[in-house]
Amino acid sequence: MTVPATASPLVRHPVLISPGEPTLEVAGVVQSSAVDGPGNRYVLFLQGCNFDCAACHNPTTIGRCDGCGTCVDRCPHQALSFTTADEVTYDAASCDHCRVCVTVCPIDADPTIRPVAVAQVVDEIRPLAPFLSGITVTGGEPTLQLAALVGLFAAVKADDELRRLSTLVDTNGTLSRRGWEQLLPVLDGAMVDLKAMDGSLHEYLTGSGNGPVKDSIHLLAERGKLAEVRLLVIEGVTDTDDELTAWARFVRSVDPHVPVRLMAFRHDGTRAAARQWTETSVEGMDRVRDRLTGLGLGAVASGRLPTAQPSL
Ligand code: SF4
Ligand code: SF4
Repeated sequence: MTVPATASPLVRHPVLISPGEPTLEVAGVVQSSAVDGPGNRYVLFLQGCNFDCAACHNPTTIGRCDGCGTCVDRCPHQALSFTTADEVTYDAASCDHCRVCVTVCPIDADPTIRPVAVAQVVDEIRPLAPFLSGITVTGGEPTLQLAALVGLFAAVKADDELRRLSTLVDTNGTLSRRGWEQLLPVLDGAMVDLKAMDGSLHEYLTGSGNGPVKDSIHLLAERGKLAEVRLLVIEGVTDTDDELTAWARFVRSVDPHVPVRLMAFRHDGTRAAARQWTETSVEGMDRVRDRLTGLGLGAVASGRLPTAQPSL
């Protein structure tokens, strides 16, 4: 059962950060989730993604603010302004969370995102730890903030009270081999989306090719860190027989027993471009599960979509 999401005070009440201290751009926190990996998990949403998926259910985590200022004038509560260094700054006390700013932002950024010190995240996790199985970092694409992500997981693994917590990322799989080599020593597993096997379909769905994703899946499997491969089932788009056959052949060649999680496409949270697709039916999910199983994949499960970024 999904434990109700709890908005974390971490994001609303940032503390002062010392110069040089590792920080994360945190878009949201769910302190207890049953759908973002095994057990009960603390979920951290990082801002920024290098894919631009029409079906993204957290689209306001895609961009990172470039200071264009569009939202500053549109905020109805004057909660946004410019610093003397021409950066957009946010006054949480004035904000009523109307979300006008993220609606008008041309690059799907969120001006209310502020840096949070890694140490502050660890402090928030500590009292929750007895009730948790692990930590999942998602986004956005969490590996875009690699140095601080490594810093967070390293801090958890170095801590006597916290090291039993498993450390997972929910990733689009575009991190380079060099990047994975930095993360793997403190990572227990990666859940990777493989959105399509056909290169042009993958580019249509995400804006990018799938070569790096396939490379990451191979690497993670070799290192025993491939926790799950995920397929977003969009009827008539990602569930054609050619696609499923190619998808299963690739995953089977990596490891026929790797856990596969199918997620049903839903309109919730997506942008207008994705509404042209119908929401995936139960029958459609069953058909894909049976087809992938018939194609030799041993552990195919239908799952709920991972937690959407909480509204703060
Ligand atoms: S959040 Fe978006 S609209 Fe606001 S200043 Fe940044 S880039 Fe511009
Ligand atoms: S969510 Fe807050 S910062 Fe954004 S427009 Fe509304 S009041 Fe302003």
